[in-house]
Amino acid sequence: MDREFKLLIDGVLHSGVTSFDVVNPATGQAFAKCPKADEAMLDKAVAAAKRAYPSWSAMPIEERAGLVEQVAEALEQRADEFAALLTREQGKPLDQAKGEVLGTVNVLRTVAKMRLETRVLSEDNEKKVIEHRTPLGVVAAITPWNFPLILLANKFAPALVTGNTMISKPAPTTPLTSLLFAEICQPILPPGVFNILCDENELGAALTSHPDVDKVTFTGSTATGKKVMESSAGGLKRVTLELGGNDASIVLDDVDAVQVAQKVFQGSMRNAGQICVAIKRVYVPEAMYEVFCEELARLAREVVVDDGANQGAQIGPVQNRQQYEKVSALIEDSKGRGTIIAGGEPLGRPGYFISPTIIRDLDDDAPLVRQEQFGPVLPVLKYSDVEELLQRVNDSEYGLAGTVWSNDVARAFEVARRINTGTVWINQLQSIDPNIPFRGAKSSGIGGESGIEGFHEYTQAHIINAATTIAA
Ligand code: NAD
Repeated sequence: MDREFKLLIDGVLHSGVTSFDVVNPATGQAFAKCPKADEAMLDKAVAAAKRAYPSWSAMPIEERAGLVEQVAEALEQRADEFAALLTREQGKPLDQAKGEVLGTVNVLRTVAKMRLETRVLSEDNEKKVIEHRTPLGVVAAITPWNFPLILLANKFAPALVTGNTMISKPAPTTPLTSLLFAEICQPILPPGVFNILCDENELGAALTSHPDVDKVTFTGSTATGKKVMESSAGGLKRVTLELGGNDASIVLDDVDAVQVAQKVFQGSMRNAGQICVAIKRVYVPEAMYEVFCEELARLAREVVVDDGANQGAQIGPVQNRQQYEKVSALIEDSKGRGTIIAGGEPLGRPGYFISPTIIRDLDDDAPLVRQEQFGPVLPVLKYSDVEELLQRVNDSEYGLAGTVWSNDVARAFEVARRINTGTVWINQLQSIDPNIPFRGAKSSGIGGESGIEGFHEYTQAHIINAATTIAA
């Protein structure tokens, strides 16, 4: 690729101290260079964000929101360019990449409409107590490689609209759309309000422990989330952690097995299974197990797996070599434990392609059932008793989300209430909305994003407690 990507520090686009390759996962070949920052640049970016904070936080919220809307407008105008770059660095099919870009525009616009309310907690002739919300200061935002743009927007929009300034650090394998995003922000936002640094996984600890960073918002794996919490603890920083999941999908016995298998297939394979809330294990009643497995296997054999840039591709490659090796090892390990009824073999082409894989007859303690696979492979499990099933579903370190399928919605609600996760969807897939709070239970996270609750995560409650007269 001819063009040069740059870091954004204090309103100025900078080359890195060095650069590193960005690989197209559909070919396994490098196609662009990413500028790399060092700790001195990190210090400069944090100092710029700290300097920008007093005037940015003092600006009326309507003006800050207006600038975020301008960013949304600029992004929308270049949606096709962003989508093509996203497919190239991330691997997802072009129509899904366009969906992520337009979803990002929607997040920016929705959050720009949110406002911080002042609540009167108590008021009479003698006193008035109010609670209002104030921003926190400098926010460090660390994002993963599965949805690099929309997950950045989930942090950028609420942090900036509420009056914070930000340093963003994308994942090393998908930095380019975030850098392009910073480039469109550069002429719109005041210097220092939004800064972006790239690394090859060396700067995380320095950023999250930096004494002038007030809050860390992180989306990524549970293992890295624990490190983030540890390094933020010294400064008692506020943290929001959106971490891994092992979402269960429960099929109740009153549904059409073929129809629901089609939904479950989409929910587990979209984005090559690399969605925090992808269906990662499905539980099917014994009586419909054979039909359900057969339909999943048929879909897995028929789906078009190809370079996301090619017309007709439905599933792209896994995003990076490390993830490809992790998912391949889980499939290999499952071979002696269960029965592979579709996929299971390498696709025999360059790039990090894994053929959609369906595995039946695994025990609950198989690594593929217990761990987060984060790839296009789905274990199909059998059950006969709902009470026992709920224990199996909840016996997980994770608690991100889950799904229940039933034609009896009241019954589905009863089951959903007992699933120990942040979200349960009934009869639909991964319905994520910037107005609805999203958060993980157990090892899937702390705090959350979206909705007014997610907006508040970038603020603190400030109480003013007044007596109306000075008592004698
Ligand atoms: P990861 O944890 O490997 O990396 C995430 C980010 O952390 C990257 O930017 C990485 O450079 C950075 N990082 C690495 N070491 C660090 C350190 N010591 N301190 C601070 N930052 C550091 O995650 P990943 O593999 O990129 O993403 C996949 C994971 O993200 C999956 O587990 C998935 O479930 C999870 N995820 C969760 C959500 C959610 O909302 N809960 C959404 C998307 C993805």
